[in-house]
Amino acid sequence: MCRELKYYGCRKYQLSLDGLRETHDWFRKPGSFDCTIEKIGCVNRAGIRSVIMTTVSATNRMEVPGIIDAVVKAGVNVFAFSRYVPSGGELDTSMTPAEYRELLALCDKKFREYEAEGCKTYFNKKDHLWTLYEYETGQFKIPAYACDGLIHDGCNCGNGHLTILPSGDIYACRRVADSKVGNVFEDRLADVWVTTMEDYRNYDEFSKCSRCKLKQFCRGCPAVAKGYSGDFYGEDPQCWASEENGLLTPKTEESVHDNNESRRAG
Ligand code: SF4
Ligand code: SF4
Repeated sequence: MCRELKYYGCRKYQLSLDGLRETHDWFRKPGSFDCTIEKIGCVNRAGIRSVIMTTVSATNRMEVPGIIDAVVKAGVNVFAFSRYVPSGGELDTSMTPAEYRELLALCDKKFREYEAEGCKTYFNKKDHLWTLYEYETGQFKIPAYACDGLIHDGCNCGNGHLTILPSGDIYACRRVADSKVGNVFEDRLADVWVTTMEDYRNYDEFSKCSRCKLKQFCRGCPAVAKGYSGDFYGEDPQCWASEENGLLTPKTEESVHDNNESRRAG
């Protein structure tokens, strides 16, 4: 099967691991953990880049370092994780900002140790809250060329990607609920990009990021924010930036008023 995929042009294949054996098999089905680990080798041998993605929540948070060990041992080419997006009422799966930061610190340490050993796995720091972590730890510095009004990096929703489903439906981001912006069989992509997509580019509407030094480089994950609070421009529930750690400018009465006004207008 993997050789067929390669023949038809597949260059990268992503598999999911959502915990160590017991947890992953509980999420998926019995035997699924061992099967996924085994298939990493099959994908590699066919000449396709193997990718393991983990969806992190409070349930499996402390298993991530063990997952990293297991997939490195299995020879995976790329490992990354992203956060769980709640889709209805299951808020007990939330992590506190401090818990999530602790996980990033554990993973960062592990990634560095493996890299120092010459490990071939590429650790993709996909979540934009890595930027916050690396800013704090001195691994990321705001570049001198950064200027007000420009978005340089961070969440790609509104500035760098779209999702097109097999039905033709176009979503601003596949992980943002209710973010359908058109359909490729009815709308020109170029028109969608400059019309309905505008709703996702109101960067000053972010209730917290708009006051943050890292606004141009991060903005967390608005899909997670929307999953928790229903508001795409709401606070990322795992972000630990604050006035106390010097990342946020203090709220003024004027900024609160402006924010409320622009939300009412939107
Ligand atoms: S406030 Fe927003 S931009 Fe700043 S670190 Fe948190 S998520 Fe990132
Ligand atoms: S909303 Fe989250 S998942 Fe979607 S592009 Fe932004 S960071 Fe990525």
